[in-house]
Amino acid sequence: MHYFQYKNGELFCEEVPVKEIVSSVGTPVYIYSARTISRHFRVFDEAFSGVSHLVCYSVKANSNVAILRLLARLGAGADIVSGGELARALKAGIPADKIVFSGVGKTPEEMKAALEAGILMFNVESLDELEVLSEVASSLGKRAPFALRVNPNVDPKTHPYITTGLKKNKFGIPEEQAIEAYKKTKDHPFLYPIGLDAHIGSQLTSVSPFVDALKRLKAIWEEVISFGIELKYLDMGGGLGIVYRDEEPPPPKEYAEALIREAKELSATLILEPGRVIVGNAGVLITKVLYTKENGFKKFVIVDAAMNDLIRPSLYQAYHEIIPVEEKDGGKEVVDVVGPICESGDFFARERKLPVLKRGDLLAIMSAGAYGFVMSSNYNSRLRPPEVLVDGDKFYVIRRRESIFDLLALESIPVNYV
Ligand SMILES: *Cc1c(COP(=O)(O)O)cnc(C)c1O
Repeated sequence: MHYFQYKNGELFCEEVPVKEIVSSVGTPVYIYSARTISRHFRVFDEAFSGVSHLVCYSVKANSNVAILRLLARLGAGADIVSGGELARALKAGIPADKIVFSGVGKTPEEMKAALEAGILMFNVESLDELEVLSEVASSLGKRAPFALRVNPNVDPKTHPYITTGLKKNKFGIPEEQAIEAYKKTKDHPFLYPIGLDAHIGSQLTSVSPFVDALKRLKAIWEEVISFGIELKYLDMGGGLGIVYRDEEPPPPKEYAEALIREAKELSATLILEPGRVIVGNAGVLITKVLYTKENGFKKFVIVDAAMNDLIRPSLYQAYHEIIPVEEKDGGKEVVDVVGPICESGDFFARERKLPVLKRGDLLAIMSAGAYGFVMSSNYNSRLRPPEVLVDGDKFYVIRRRESIFDLLALESIPVNYV
């Protein structure tokens, strides 16, 4: 669900007409609904209210500091994957002791920053990484709290690029190795084993892979505690899917009940790392039709947003619903909606039935709140779009549009160079 709807034939975000935002900041522009984000977070959090738990929002899904602040106020923790995300989470006011640090390639500098901040735990993804974490902790005279991310080898049945829990994926540690590693860290001076973690993929539309993974985790958990190691946190990762088109993902309640049923014997504190399900449907990308053209074979609608602004269709063949900002009666036609970039992969929709469009029409690319702006780039030297947060009848620019000055700010031509 979300709070983007037509009123008298015109698209609104909550109480604000999309056209009003466009006349103030132009296109393309990302628009997020605060009410949708809050609602999604609350529903998710409340689904786990029967058990000790912590919801660590996955910052990489949408990392704007204003969104992180909104989630911080609702009591969210954060799942981060870089030093940059650590800085964002702290700036937004997310308490360090609600932050978990995931990712296969943490650098010693990132570990140091996280240890100094006092994060809840590191989700360690290799034995090499565990060794480096121990060295960094030792240099600071600290004990690093950690969970091992295991690879439970279950198939989440999602797009191959966002499948992470299979043996062929780069993520996590095989079960047997993980158990051996836990054994070695018992009473370790610089390492403090407190959790167990898995994250099997993204955009999952059924609970069974989560339950299968949890069964594997339970077996490992029981073996590890049999060594006298007191694990506390069972981190189930993120990955719950959303509706882009006609998917039928389980509601958070059903997901939570399945996990709670399976995990309750362990008396663990559950950690969840949802990203997409919190922000995905809470954002849209608004773009303007620049031109239309027909080549006798196909009709193209060329818009002012491109794959550099929203890469999901190009990268994952992802489907995003596209609707006109002003409702249109009359005929429909089949078109390709494409951006200005010099790549044939630069499209938002192919062979899509849309109302007949003309120059200047505004379109809303729906469900663009997760893995949208955060994956944007300056490819083709395009200026990244602004981000706007709507709350009730007010809207706030939470990131301004980039300028040519921003574009060139970090580059220099060496003095005396040709
Ligand atoms: C990406 C990621 C998430 C969030 O995934 P969603 O599908 O957006 O919920 C959670 N945990 C880890 C480790 C991740 O890499």
